[in-house]
Amino acid sequence: MKTFNGTAFAKLNLYLGVRGLRPDGYHELETVFQAVDLCDLVSLSLHRQGGVSLRCNLPYLPTDHRNLAVKAANAFFQASGIENPGLHINIKKVIPVGAGMAGGSTDAACVLRLLNRAFGMPLCEKKLAATALSLGADVPFCLHGGTALARGVGEKLQSQRPMPPCFLVVGKPGFSVATKDAFALYDNRPGGEPSTAAAVLKGLEEGDLAAIAGGLHNDLEAPVSRRYRLVGRLRTSLLDSGALGARMTGSGSAVFGIFEDREQAEAAAGRLRRLCRDVFVTVPLPERCWGKCEE
Ligand code: ATP
Repeated sequence: MKTFNGTAFAKLNLYLGVRGLRPDGYHELETVFQAVDLCDLVSLSLHRQGGVSLRCNLPYLPTDHRNLAVKAANAFFQASGIENPGLHINIKKVIPVGAGMAGGSTDAACVLRLLNRAFGMPLCEKKLAATALSLGADVPFCLHGGTALARGVGEKLQSQRPMPPCFLVVGKPGFSVATKDAFALYDNRPGGEPSTAAAVLKGLEEGDLAAIAGGLHNDLEAPVSRRYRLVGRLRTSLLDSGALGARMTGSGSAVFGIFEDREQAEAAAGRLRRLCRDVFVTVPLPERCWGKCEE
């Protein structure tokens, strides 16, 4: 039996703009992703036979083919033509579920990466990215990591200069917002101005943290926070605690704030804990940073 351990990092959206609805029902997006060091721990053990099985520390997550990590393993075996050997996946979830932090997508990306390594790289980067996209819009970025502008349904990725060092305080309310519900709220919103990623991209290019924080935007935030008031209250709490900027990430329900200073970030996290239980202080990660245990 061989074991492979991996770290599956979460993401935040520094910018998320909806660009329209495609005929297939997917929304075209423009988004700036940032990988952060909050991570799930994924371990794979390979056996001679036996199919794919999964164990997870969260009893309410599916452990069968509905789990994105199992889907990723099946997609890998199909794309590589490797006869399904026997694979057991163990996941220790740390990333909050249904938070807009790509928890399932990053587990899937981690499984793809580890399996490709375990079997001697049968999939080239292009094929690996295509397999990732077949699993979900956020999975290609989770393979990529770092800071990136994504277009389409999240698959056209352009690396950006790394985010300047900072502390990111994340609060996740006790409820989750399903991605399709967030888009339905957006589709039924009472109108709104078109937004742009320009300020965040310029801030990244110039390594200017205040400019990045000032440009944070998420088209889904107003419609989601009209329905879920706590989202707005978390954001206000972060700003009152001195965040340079604060926004909801992805389709919610988590909200994050940017801080220059660790002590200020820890104090803000303490205040946020009065409003929600899941609170994390995390930092941005550069591209292809998978943690020591994978090297
Ligand atoms: P995104 O940011 O990519 O829109 P999210 O962070 O909002 O996603 P997830 O945490 O990925 O949401 O969970 C969304 C749904 O996916 C949950 O309802 C959960 O049951 C399902 N799911 C399947 N596999 C996993 C997994 N490995 N980890 C977390 N959720 C999973």
